[in-house]
Amino acid sequence: MKTCIACGMPMEAVSDYAMGDTDKDYCVHCARPDGTMQSYEEKLDSLTGFIVRTQGLDEQAAATAAKSMMAQLPAWKNR
Ligand SMILES: [Zn+2]
Repeated sequence: MKTCIACGMPMEAVSDYAMGDTDKDYCVHCARPDGTMQSYEEKLDSLTGFIVRTQGLDEQAAATAAKSMMAQLPAWKNR
């Protein structure tokens, strides 16, 4: 089992992988419709929106939280 390099989600089922391809290191939520990995900005945007919806933070606070979460993940380590 792998963990998504872009969001940290454990990928247990084949359907959790981008395009159902277990050779990929990122999950279905971090893939674009064409199967490539989303950019840092795209992921930051979607993660910020997710935090706003689930934790009720304002945009600014959510973006800060999203950035620090992403800083822990291998895909964005060098950002
Ligand atoms: Zn992911």
